[in-house]
Amino acid sequence: MIRVALAGNPNSGKTTLFNSLTGSTAHVGNWPGVTVDKRDGVYKKGKEPMQIIDLPGIYSLSPYTPEEVISRNYILDEKPDCIINIVDATNLERNLYLTTQLMEIDVPMVIALNMIDAVKKNGDKIDAKTLEKKIGIKVVEISALRETGLTELMEACEEVYSTPREGKTVLESTDLNHLIEDVRIALKYKGIDSPLFHAVKLVENDEIEVNQHQETVKMIDEFKATFKDNVFGTDFEALVADGRYKYINKNYSSVVTKKQKKEKLSKSDKADKVLTHKIWGIPIFLVIMFLVYHLTFSENFLFLAGAVGEQVTLEGTAFEGLVLNGGGVNSPGVFLQTVVGGLTNLVDEALRNALATSPAWVTGLLCDGVWAGIAAVLSFVPQVLMLFMFLSMLEDSGYMARVAFILDRMFRKFGLSGRSFMPMIMGFGCSVPAMINTRTLADEKEKVATIRVIPFFSCGAKLPILTAIAGAIGTQFGLGNVDLITFGMYLFGIVVAIATVLLMRNTSLKGDTPPFIMELPAYHMPQPKNLALLLWDKLKHYLKKASTIIFATCILIWFLSNFNWKWQMVDNIGESILCNVGELFTPLFTPLGFGSQLNSNYSWVFVVAAVTGLIAKENVIATFALIAAVITGMDPEAFSEAESVVAMIQATGITVPALIAYIMFNMTTIPCFAAVATAKGELPKKYYRTTILFWLVTSYLVGTMTYLVGTWPWTVAIFIAVIALVVTLIVLNNKGKINLSKLKIKMPKKVNKEG
Ligand code: GDP
Ligand code: MG
Repeated sequence: MIRVALAGNPNSGKTTLFNSLTGSTAHVGNWPGVTVDKRDGVYKKGKEPMQIIDLPGIYSLSPYTPEEVISRNYILDEKPDCIINIVDATNLERNLYLTTQLMEIDVPMVIALNMIDAVKKNGDKIDAKTLEKKIGIKVVEISALRETGLTELMEACEEVYSTPREGKTVLESTDLNHLIEDVRIALKYKGIDSPLFHAVKLVENDEIEVNQHQETVKMIDEFKATFKDNVFGTDFEALVADGRYKYINKNYSSVVTKKQKKEKLSKSDKADKVLTHKIWGIPIFLVIMFLVYHLTFSENFLFLAGAVGEQVTLEGTAFEGLVLNGGGVNSPGVFLQTVVGGLTNLVDEALRNALATSPAWVTGLLCDGVWAGIAAVLSFVPQVLMLFMFLSMLEDSGYMARVAFILDRMFRKFGLSGRSFMPMIMGFGCSVPAMINTRTLADEKEKVATIRVIPFFSCGAKLPILTAIAGAIGTQFGLGNVDLITFGMYLFGIVVAIATVLLMRNTSLKGDTPPFIMELPAYHMPQPKNLALLLWDKLKHYLKKASTIIFATCILIWFLSNFNWKWQMVDNIGESILCNVGELFTPLFTPLGFGSQLNSNYSWVFVVAAVTGLIAKENVIATFALIAAVITGMDPEAFSEAESVVAMIQATGITVPALIAYIMFNMTTIPCFAAVATAKGELPKKYYRTTILFWLVTSYLVGTMTYLVGTWPWTVAIFIAVIALVVTLIVLNNKGKINLSKLKIKMPKKVNKEG
């Protein structure tokens, strides 16, 4: 099959083009660095099928970032039949810098002048014909988003791919030409592919090239020495870059005609003045995030409780609790959740009717077991999707890239760069892609620290734990607003992330924070098409999980909670296998408030639920629903998920601080299997075990602190003292006044490796 590689700057629309050509649903994001690995698909509308490869975005072919190395190696080693160099036409000059490098490789190439719609909208003009003539490579105007010009683009590929192309360089007209030419001929004589490209890179003293062509380097140094008086200076890399820019400036800039702009600030600049303000930037971000949570979780939407609450109730009608609940108006998120809850109840009813004549255990397994668990998970899908949608909108609009930029200033103090904010924000969706995205972090230690804290950014699957428990706290103890508690817990997770990063970067993962250079993408309206694709993907992911992992876990838990070791069905869950096993571990969690102090019959339920969460975090809430159905024996029809937690609260006598500690424990402990496997793949080998240990220790400490301080506020003094001691020790250690490693308690060898 013909192989066509998409190469271009970050954010130039490669993935959008890739999706349009192949019908895939890869993640498109309005910030640089979303695609970190290459991926491929097939374009079927041409004369013959073509394989399309989406490469990570790059500004140049130098070896400084993982993206650059992936893309460069692919093009040089795998030799695609054709390169589509996708160029953001609204930023032509900067994008052409990469073009001048790609054209030096001996591979057929077509230039896709993307975002032509935006150029036209701005009132600018680009003379594609002249550009094509000057550059000597076919140029096609396209809009990946509006899907215009795509057929022409692919036809151009079909035209050029079969004829070999010899690389050309814009450095021809510079003083370096002679040197490059000599090297090129020498390399060609040795039978090396793309001799021109390698020649230029060798002249630049490119690290990878120098390692690969040791002998030639000697020769080049001799060449370089023959240029008397050191006319070039020593920084050949800068010379080459300068040559490229000068050429672009002189020859290609003329093809763009910009509409005369008034001196006024553009809309985007104006927005940035407010949104990226030095002082107000972060508070504005927090307010925006709170609004998102308010829209998704609030049961007192727009704080209307006082205004309408008690007077208007629709009690007794079909709409009871749908729009208005006891206290106030439901936010859109809660409204949707209620609708799905109603639907799952209908299914439950139908299931029970259909099973009316079957043995009790069948109804038990299917209704109280499988369906109760799955329904519990499904009812949160609207809120998970909604939160995900808002975050995606913020991302696609270009705002999140600014937040990374604002936070860079703060992150730097903690030892991270703003770049690590992107994988963290992705963590709100799912830890797996977030961990993969850390490949954009070039610094190993920063990467390890980031991977470790990603689970603290509560993912979609942990969200139900938060909302259900927050809801139950509201109902049972008459405390607070669900949206506020949820938002607060998210923030709490972030605080833990910051604190642990700070600790790691000052002790075991010490190192410099790399600079953060990112180009801010333009603001634009979030694209409904991209959003729809993302949400659809997320929904599919959920439904798949519900029908596989969660389904299987529910069956398992139901059996374990209904049978004893002799495989007889039990009447009392206290005699079940689940209870027996759970009780073994319960004492471990007494410091966190959900251990032995709970009512003896059910003291193990929270622990067991947390353990099922290791398989998939949705299981926590599914397990609650299942166990609640068994312990109350009540009609699960009347159950909402918060109510299943209420039932557990009543059965166990757990306190509010313990519930909060429970949320915190689940948020910071070992993530689900899928995330652990990803972490294992992404982490350098020696950090894997310590990372697992890190999650265990952090969650246990955070849970304990939360519970103790919540229950006995004076214990806060102890923790402040301990923290102050740790901070002092670290500061002294950093100043070299003491040596912490001498104080270290001997740990098993494997654990101690990274110190
Ligand atoms: P990548 O980083 O090169 O893969 O770029 P993406 O495909 O993720 O796109 C970056 C941003 O540019 C997204 O917000 C897209 O919606 C937007 N975009 C892509 N193609 C076009 C286009 O043809 N016109 C306009 N106006 N926007 C586009
Ligand atoms: Mg991309």
